[in-house]
Amino acid sequence: MDLELTEEQAAVRELAAGFADREIVPFAAEWDRAESIDLGIVKKLGDLGFLGLTLPEEYGGSGGDHLAYCLVLEELGRGDSSVRGVVSVSLGLVGKSIHAFGTEEQKRHWLPRLCAGEALACFALTEPGTGSDAANLTTRAVRDGGDWLISGAKMFITNGTWADVALVFARTGEPGHRGVSAFLVPTDTPGFSRTLVHGKLGLRGQATAELSFDSVRVPDSARLGAEGKGFTVAMAALAKGRMSVAAGCVGIARAALEAAVRYAGEREQFGKPIAQHQLVQELLADIAVDVDAARLLTWRVADLIDRGLPFATESSVAKLFASEAAVRSANNALQVFGGYGFIDEYPVGKYLRDARVMTLYEGTSQIHKLLIGRSLTGVNAF
Ligand SMILES: Cc1cc2nc3c(=O)[nH]c(=O)nc-3n(C[C@H](O)[C@H](O)[C@H](O)COP(=O)(O)OP(=O)(O)OC[C@H]3O[C@@H](n4cnc5c(N)ncnc54)[C@H](O)[C@@H]3O)c2cc1C
Repeated sequence: MDLELTEEQAAVRELAAGFADREIVPFAAEWDRAESIDLGIVKKLGDLGFLGLTLPEEYGGSGGDHLAYCLVLEELGRGDSSVRGVVSVSLGLVGKSIHAFGTEEQKRHWLPRLCAGEALACFALTEPGTGSDAANLTTRAVRDGGDWLISGAKMFITNGTWADVALVFARTGEPGHRGVSAFLVPTDTPGFSRTLVHGKLGLRGQATAELSFDSVRVPDSARLGAEGKGFTVAMAALAKGRMSVAAGCVGIARAALEAAVRYAGEREQFGKPIAQHQLVQELLADIAVDVDAARLLTWRVADLIDRGLPFATESSVAKLFASEAAVRSANNALQVFGGYGFIDEYPVGKYLRDARVMTLYEGTSQIHKLLIGRSLTGVNAF
């Protein structure tokens, strides 16, 4: 079922699998009910190097390639999507952006702490009025002497109330994507406030927050990348981020498959295990095909990145397929469980609730179809 892994990739996968089995799986249902993971897990993720994967050791990173990164995210996603999200956002969207676009000072200031799990980051692009149409964001940053004053609001920000630093995208110039700049804003800066979003269908262990900026003052040295190039920072982060969401979706689909196979072997109806009914086997086979296809599409993206080749469209393909596959797989697994799938004594209902957001964030399925269509035709149909 696997491609041949290097020794290093196989070792990191084993480490992540053991960690997920010991530190995540036994607590996932409890965190879901409590609407928060135990934040003590962040330091543990840092200690194992999972918050520094693909980043160089000189900045506190743990190295490794993007395939190793996907292997870890699959295992974390198998355990709990809320934990996987911590890594995808703090390292994947923010840490990697600081590494790619930051000054030496920004890298030395933020990366060692983020990689160690001593600090967390959030990625603040979406606003109440602009989701898919992110280039039209309205949060503003205006110059005030050598500083910037940021005002506006952000919506649905993962890690929002936990983060020590927010990567904030704000308008500094003309309308559209060319007028956006990116800033690294410490979350204890005066004027910065955050409110937790409650009542989510899934991903309940995650802190999803609304952020508000009331003339938040940051020095020009907080700008990440050139003025007016913030949208480039955001899109570069999301192109890789979509691979990490896809890897997390493989994890959910796999967890659904493993639970469904186990249950099908135990539950008896009509005098035999339900695994012996052909239509139940069909449900299991459909999940297995989705797991393999999603995983291979995700690994293709990792391979392209590791070889320095273009990967943005392939990342959209992987994210689109894997997110829809995770929803389908969790739903099929729930069907295998019958009525027991509908109560939270069993994990499959949570898999379905957690999977559902995957087709919405980091580009909805519709947006990814438009991106793939644009790449095929050269025509922008947004
Ligand atoms: C739990 C959670 C965590 C999140 N975490 C983050 C985060 O950390 N950082 C962050 O910045 N954002 C985050 N988001 C926001 C997420 O990325 C947005 O919700 C997403 O981009 C969609 O935006 P929207 O919700 O405003 O929907 P809208 O853009 O309003 O879309 C509504 C519907 O219209 C469709 N649609 C929109 N435009 C088109 C079009 N041109 N053609 C066809 N259909 C279209 C969409 O596909 C969708 O079906 C998170 C969201 C959730 C729910």
